[in-house]
Amino acid sequence: MSQLLEGNLNFRKNTFPKYAKEFLRLVQEGQTPKALLIGCSDSRVIPDLVLNTKPGDLFIVRNVGNFVPPYSLSEDFHATASALEYGVSVLNVSEIIILGHTHCGACATLHSPEKVSNLPHLKKWLKLGEVAKTNAIATKKQGEELLRATERFSLITQLDNLLTYPEIKKRVENGSLHLHGWIFDIETGAIEFYDSELGKFLPLDSATE
Ligand SMILES: [Zn+2]
Repeated sequence: MSQLLEGNLNFRKNTFPKYAKEFLRLVQEGQTPKALLIGCSDSRVIPDLVLNTKPGDLFIVRNVGNFVPPYSLSEDFHATASALEYGVSVLNVSEIIILGHTHCGACATLHSPEKVSNLPHLKKWLKLGEVAKTNAIATKKQGEELLRATERFSLITQLDNLLTYPEIKKRVENGSLHLHGWIFDIETGAIEFYDSELGKFLPLDSATE
């Protein structure tokens, strides 16, 4: 804990002054992020660090596996759906980015379900990766290659799930919202994006928009 207390002291002394004006403006005018990002809870994947973004740039929701539950009107507590609703319908973001990553524990656990047999919430949540697991196994890849394939297939599944939200589908179709699937490579810092027309992942540096 002392590391965190010291961290905040350090932030207030050295970092906050650099952003003080911007924070004040964001309080007075409210936030107007252009992008909503769905990232994994993994402590090694820090969206603002890897994208060099500032306060006010990204509306972020993080969950285990950067999964997107399909649209549902059930009366459960829907954290990710709430963030999508607010980001899309209130903040009017023009971009939604799903930021997957290599060495994702959630994707690995899909292949070792016994690890979550006594963890009811995780067991249920990981069902959102079942299609990805099946698709990855069908490639006949093994070991780390199987896991990298699972992470990629999962990203595609989660992008599909975004389109089950009527408001997202409507805005994508009228061109006011764009969906992006990115994979962050923890070992190199590089990002690849999913090109849905080519059906493959390419370096983000080569993206045209
Ligand atoms: Zn992860």
